[in-house]
Amino acid sequence: MKTKGTRKYKVNVVTMGCAKNLVDSEVLITQLKANKINVYHEKDNVQSDIVIVNTCGFIENAKQESIDTILNFVKAKKQGLIQKLYVTGCLSQRYREELETEIPQVDAYFGTRDLPALLKRFNVDYRHELLGERLTSTRSHYAYLKISEGCDRPCSFCAIPLMRGNHRSRPVEELVQEASFLAERGVKELLLIAQDSTYYGIDLYNTRMLGKLMDSLAKIDRIEWIRLHYAFPAGFPEDALHIMADNENICKYIDMPLQHASSKMLKIMRRGITRERTEALIEKIRNLVPGIGIRTTMLVGHPGETGKDFEEMIDFIEKVKFDRLGVFTYSHEEGTHSWSLKDTVPKREKQRRADELMEVQASISGRLNQQRIGKILKVIIDRKENGHYIGRTEYDSPEVDNEVLIDAGVHKLRTGEFSSIFITDALPFDLIGKPHTGDS
Ligand code: SF4
Repeated sequence: MKTKGTRKYKVNVVTMGCAKNLVDSEVLITQLKANKINVYHEKDNVQSDIVIVNTCGFIENAKQESIDTILNFVKAKKQGLIQKLYVTGCLSQRYREELETEIPQVDAYFGTRDLPALLKRFNVDYRHELLGERLTSTRSHYAYLKISEGCDRPCSFCAIPLMRGNHRSRPVEELVQEASFLAERGVKELLLIAQDSTYYGIDLYNTRMLGKLMDSLAKIDRIEWIRLHYAFPAGFPEDALHIMADNENICKYIDMPLQHASSKMLKIMRRGITRERTEALIEKIRNLVPGIGIRTTMLVGHPGETGKDFEEMIDFIEKVKFDRLGVFTYSHEEGTHSWSLKDTVPKREKQRRADELMEVQASISGRLNQQRIGKILKVIIDRKENGHYIGRTEYDSPEVDNEVLIDAGVHKLRTGEFSSIFITDALPFDLIGKPHTGDS
């Protein structure tokens, strides 16, 4: 059922889940806008006629949030507030048949690689010439750059390869073109994202090319910060660390989800690395890139994890002292390798372990932040809120890491610009500061 004459309709795109899904929504919006279709991104105050929900299907909570969002728009459709409802993204890729049966009020479901088919519903074709020209929905001074799609790793708990397919790197030229386009539009900070950024290039160039890619991106004028996310520890490309150390505009920052610390659990989780090799890698990273900020993510409550294994994770965190840390509780996902294992850790105990881990991290982060007092740091000012300018250092990624607070009642700064900030105080997960005026 095609929507004849869709150009005059207002389309609202709603994005669930991660930054990679956000980039997909941005590509969709870019295509629709280029075809003169009135499209918004998550605008609550705009009466839209057609809604596209770009879903997440990663873990239980995320799946439920996507289903609730779809049902809210089904209700809006019943009330005649919207006319068409389309669903795309990971949940739709993974559970299309079930969704078509259980929520038939949705006009059509699309997978993660069905953009052309979705555009057909608007009587428009996918415009290849727009490749590299992406309208972003993030603050104008930073943007995500998705360097590859999918993943070839066998991690036991992860459903992402089921939804995103095998690893597919985007060509270096295409990424440089897109980054240059973004820089011309005022982007100063590029966040490199993928399912596994360190695998970049193997499928396309038969060799790891992350270092070369970062080196090429570092040559783009006006890009002041390049930030590396989603690095995988096993087979880490050392040359990327040398490139990071040698280029001022590559943040001394790495996001490297490790998921666990006990070699027994890393084996069960099929991570292809041991505790000893993980510690050796972290030591190498800190030696090759002095002062680097390391972010990691841990997964607690995986089948087979005993109290002793969890204690080993705590011991590892206390020993390594990560600058930034996030934690997930294990979600039993059908279709993953772990689905065949017994989900041994009770839900309440999973959450207790996650809470204990973050308590330990709060004290580590607090102590590390104390060491920043008296320092002058380069800070990007993201926004003004509750009487403060809110910014980030090169050790902080948007949405997930620490922030720097500057009193807006006393100081005047420009959002979207870099400022030198003298750190006057520290909180467990934030810093307090004031503009550095040479005598402060
Ligand atoms: S690296 Fe592992 S956890 Fe990450 S997306 Fe791939 S399979 Fe999932």
